[in-house]
Amino acid sequence: MKTKPRVVWSNYNATDPHAGAAPLCVDFSKKCWQPPCMIDNNALLERSLRAVWHPCTQMKVHEQQPLVPIERGQGVWLYDFDGRRYLDAVSSWWVNIFGHANTRINAALVDQLGRLEHAILAGCTHEPVVRLSERLGQLAPGSLGHCFYGSDGASATEIALKMSFHYWRNRGKAQKTGFISLQQSYHGETLGALSVTDVALFKDTYAPLLRASVQVPSPDWRLRLPGSTAQAHALACADALERHLASHHESTASLIVEPLVQGACGMGMYDRAYLQRARELCTRYDVLLIADEIMTGFGRTGALFACEHAGIAPDLLCLSKAITGGYLPLSVVLSTDAVYEAFYHDEVTRGFLHSHSYTGNALACRAALATLDIFEQDQVIAANRTKSERFSAMAGVLAAHPRVQDFRNQGMIWAFEVSTQNPLFARDFYRHALQRELLLRPIGNTIYFMPPYVIEDDEWRMLLERTIECIEHSA
Ligand SMILES: *Cc1c(COP(=O)(O)O)cnc(C)c1O
Repeated sequence: MKTKPRVVWSNYNATDPHAGAAPLCVDFSKKCWQPPCMIDNNALLERSLRAVWHPCTQMKVHEQQPLVPIERGQGVWLYDFDGRRYLDAVSSWWVNIFGHANTRINAALVDQLGRLEHAILAGCTHEPVVRLSERLGQLAPGSLGHCFYGSDGASATEIALKMSFHYWRNRGKAQKTGFISLQQSYHGETLGALSVTDVALFKDTYAPLLRASVQVPSPDWRLRLPGSTAQAHALACADALERHLASHHESTASLIVEPLVQGACGMGMYDRAYLQRARELCTRYDVLLIADEIMTGFGRTGALFACEHAGIAPDLLCLSKAITGGYLPLSVVLSTDAVYEAFYHDEVTRGFLHSHSYTGNALACRAALATLDIFEQDQVIAANRTKSERFSAMAGVLAAHPRVQDFRNQGMIWAFEVSTQNPLFARDFYRHALQRELLLRPIGNTIYFMPPYVIEDDEWRMLLERTIECIEHSA
């Protein structure tokens, strides 16, 4: 077994837990320290399969395809116990933006650990949640000044849906109970969120449990008619939304959309004209617009929030995933004054009586503040703009590959379809990618790159070259 220095930061003082001392650096390699249990790749895999039920997985698949054991992460890389590395080109499920083991986020969390890890947010408040709410309110499009916290993306969707319904009820329009979402949308997998999700693989099995909602045509430009443009397709879909609202607005509470990029359906991208029309229509027909920026938020599409590309502001904005830089689960729903005020009343039940135990967790909020600091200090949005252009130019050979179709880019997302006859393409591609140090998760025949923003040119070049090899081996 290799020995390497293990550095653990701690400012917990066992003799005086209230001391709040400056962080100590404990180098265990100098103290003959043994890990609590000896572990290697195989031991971990075996124990994981016995004890851990992995997400979004048919567990029997792992009889053939081993799990990837991860010992540690650094920047864009994940490492196993033998030092084998994998480029995290999916940002660990779209959450990581500034790399693993980011020193600045680590330092903020170490400091926060010495102050407050968590406190109940009903009836109490704390500095990280107040500062985060103020900053998010300033950064968000429009005037979205009231932050309601959840724990993960799906809980933000649940909050936004319940809030939109309750808003109309408080306004004396209790018949406005319906939700509209786009075809092939994804908003999470708890029952309410799954009800407005339109991905058959996740939804069909649970259909009998779900509340009916309406799906209107998706502006995803891959679905345009032959000879049509992305914008013409977006406008045609907006017309379909208008027809639906014209006849159903009286029973509709809200429209929920993933602005500009529909992630889980395979990075379907669409023209901003759709968002502009959707905003106008929601205002005209008294329907709340919910922007689910759980994936698109925090710079992923090239602006801090995707709605900015269209110059619109929603009534409710859902954020999660990259909010903590990919460190800790946290989500938030931002709302307008108009929504907030509809709940502000002497009557208790007109309030939003919804909660999650870890609402506004102090550590998670502090990680989010450190993430926002990095955006500010490093001018990340501007830097990503040039990086995105440079990376797209470097991807020319891949985009022109005879098996690659509909190569597309929006900010720090790249995607394309692979034409193949192999029914097991996704599985084979995934395996070939791992053999070449790439962690990529195809969605059907769609390959996408959603790397942490800290990825460097040579890593990007490696990703492109090896992706072409994988396509040639698996298509
Ligand atoms: C990931 C995602 C969600 C769900 O977030 P979880 O944290 O996985 O519950 C909701 N909406 C969008 C657009 C997402 O990408």
